[in-house]
Amino acid sequence: MRIVVLTGGIGGARFLLGVRAYAREVGAEVTAVVNVGDDLRLHGLRICPDLDSVLYTLGGGADPQRGWGRVDESWTVKNELAAYGAEPSWFGLGDRDIATHLVRTTMLDAGYPLHQVTEALATRWQPGVRLLPATDDRLETHAVTDLDGGQRAIHFQEWWVRYRAEIPTHRFVFVGAESAKPAPGVTEAIAGADVLLVAPSNPVVSIAPILAVPGLREAVTTSPAPVVGVSPIIGGAPVRGMADRCLAVVGVECTAGGVGGLYGSRAAGGLLDGWLVAEEDAGTLVPDVTVRAVPLLMTDEAATAAMVRAAVELT
Ligand code: GDP
Ligand code: CA
Repeated sequence: MRIVVLTGGIGGARFLLGVRAYAREVGAEVTAVVNVGDDLRLHGLRICPDLDSVLYTLGGGADPQRGWGRVDESWTVKNELAAYGAEPSWFGLGDRDIATHLVRTTMLDAGYPLHQVTEALATRWQPGVRLLPATDDRLETHAVTDLDGGQRAIHFQEWWVRYRAEIPTHRFVFVGAESAKPAPGVTEAIAGADVLLVAPSNPVVSIAPILAVPGLREAVTTSPAPVVGVSPIIGGAPVRGMADRCLAVVGVECTAGGVGGLYGSRAAGGLLDGWLVAEEDAGTLVPDVTVRAVPLLMTDEAATAAMVRAAVELT
């Protein structure tokens, strides 16, 4: 069996731990198509927050408390940059983490595309699943906000990390999306999948930018395999993070039903055949989508693998 997962960073990475465990049980192959909309250049370095969260988590090198970055991290470089007054100071780059960005940036500057760079980084981390960036091309999520007395688009990371998603915001734009192409292997993996899973990632800023790559949404909606999503919203709130603020920007109710409706049924030109919600959200209805309620807290790998089994068996 071939499983393809559309995924963001922290929530997606945890989900992938369960997908990998399930895949080992049943002898399946896993490909993860990872959001790059959060990517940015800082201090000359290319940072890929979601790819790194997935690499570190699956490779056993993530910080379990913070959820992002490396375990046993130190912050000497960050403190030295602050001593120079070097901006931006709102994005924390740990010393261990910086090594990843140095290797990545050197390879990108030498002309290697992001999917090859990711493959090279994965030889160290051995994530046990194939990781593909949604695109090798520049695709950046920006938030159109009210700042300094006028409308201003700022990078998603600045909106999220610096402003804590707390400023008046009109919409998100995926800069560069129109001319981006799916990274090599992405549409092939989707077309060849036996099941497609949408991780319980942020629908607005993790999954939507993946689907904004021309051809990618079509690959999913026309795939012969069933598409099953897992709700990141339980009992009307995100399990962690600020997905509620992102949903408010796009005018979608922060409920399992709201997000299911945002994705929509494949029968109606949307994404989903199946939608897994938490037990407290039993009774959620999404037109033309099979909804099932199961425990959805990713407390450990076994609980997460059970979620994945329920998703795979849903359709
Ligand atoms: P990011 O890119 O690092 O923001 O991470 P993702 O977009 O992949 O995932 C963020 C989402 O994961 C949030 O909206 C959370 O609600 C969701 N999430 C985190 N932990 C859990 C969990 O245990 N269960 C479920 N169902 N969702 C979770
Ligand atoms: Ca992210």
